Amino acid sequence: MRWSDFPKWGKWLADWAAEYHAGLRDRPVRAQTAPGAIAAQLPARPPEEAQPLEDVIADFERIVMPGITHWQHPRFFAYFPSNASPAAVLADQIVTVMAPQCMLWQTSPAATEMETRMMDWLRQAIALPQGFHGVIQDSASSATLAAMLTLRERALDWHGNQQGLSGQPRLRVYASEEVHTSIDRAIWIAGIGQENLVRIPTTGPLRAMDTAALDAAIEADKAAGYLPAGIIACTGGTGTGACDDIAATCDVAEKHGLYTHVDAAWAGAAMICPEFRTLWAGVERADSVVFNPHKWLGTQFDLSAHFIRSPEDLTRTLAIQPEYLKTHGADGIINYSEWSVPLGRRFRALKLWFLLRAYGLAGLRQMIRNHVAWSQALADRLRAHPDFEIVTEPVLSLFTFRYAPPGASDLDDLNQRLVNAINDDGRIYITQTRTRGELVIRFQAGQFDATEDDVKTAYNVITEIAKTL
Ligand SMILES: *Cc1c(COP(=O)(O)O)cnc(C)c1O
Repeated sequence: MRWSDFPKWGKWLADWAAEYHAGLRDRPVRAQTAPGAIAAQLPARPPEEAQPLEDVIADFERIVMPGITHWQHPRFFAYFPSNASPAAVLADQIVTVMAPQCMLWQTSPAATEMETRMMDWLRQAIALPQGFHGVIQDSASSATLAAMLTLRERALDWHGNQQGLSGQPRLRVYASEEVHTSIDRAIWIAGIGQENLVRIPTTGPLRAMDTAALDAAIEADKAAGYLPAGIIACTGGTGTGACDDIAATCDVAEKHGLYTHVDAAWAGAAMICPEFRTLWAGVERADSVVFNPHKWLGTQFDLSAHFIRSPEDLTRTLAIQPEYLKTHGADGIINYSEWSVPLGRRFRALKLWFLLRAYGLAGLRQMIRNHVAWSQALADRLRAHPDFEIVTEPVLSLFTFRYAPPGASDLDDLNQRLVNAINDDGRIYITQTRTRGELVIRFQAGQFDATEDDVKTAYNVITEIAKTL
């Protein structure tokens, strides 16, 4: 295939994309294939000769499509959303055609300068104060790793990268049980070690860290000769949407001089709506915050927004400047590769620009408000049903529930069977989680094409299939 063939296939793609979206409700949400079924249809050896693109596309439809779980399906209620808005998809296509590698300012000044401006737009959109500087990371996991490395270096007076961790005091980091596993991985990769991730018990309906217990744990660690280094708080934990009390957490952090990172990977998008900002009151006192526009906001994977108060601390931790990466003769520029673990970077800011201009903050707010309202209405209907109970109340558009008909035993097994039967049915897609030892069913609405009817369909499917168990 040559670029001269591109108009033909580009038009094919444009039509295919629109038809795909228009027909999504007719497809099962979760792929219905058995393990190994797709692999069995892929030849074991690569082709020696070029093949016509017609054949490749026919095989794509026949082999690949049945193995896709449709994240853009309006009745995708599992995990968290991963919205791909058409405006952002278009921007990504443009970027992919040019495929610039934007590690340095000079390797595409537009990418760097657009990133600076877009991150400041986002900062204003979620009402973080001036003084926070944004950088686009590939994922919340990468942003949290960058934060973990920064807090490690800061606590070790900037000696960790040079000297390694052996012979250093034992660092400690604090978080609740509700934080995402990316925190565990960050602490492994940063060399601090799982045993030094101190789990603080949670209290209250939002399952916030008990900050008295947090303070006591830090005091005890200091007395035992450890070196407390930082706190990872969450706004909208993955399992049930737990929210730490950020203000109270920052009180403790400031008292002990610790770094605070807030993981709001999913819930951060909702902060474009002023009425939800109480969930992270105090966030302006954190050292860094991450949220994923690639989840709820519609800039398809990957685009993670990482805000930091001290870029100097971040670049002191991550920047490395061999001669071949230096830019001579240009002052006041930013090389964003010094702000992240990977060197290479895509031009991601363009899709944010397209998104924000094509929908406006008002349009995005309306979508998020709808999801929250519809989800809370569903929770109320399930609560009113005699065979269902709400286990954790809605946090934004996420809640958990359980099927508990009178007299039923082994509810964990019953609820897992319900999840499996619902997902085999295919009309909706939901997943389970475990909270305080119980297996519960998770529901979240956040898909851009979802309508109130789609959420009502979820009620019908859940109650109908439960009766058949
Ligand atoms: C989704 C999620 C993550 C991980 O996000 P990635 O961008 O996939 O790394 C981390 N924390 C929370 C709370 C999440 O919901």
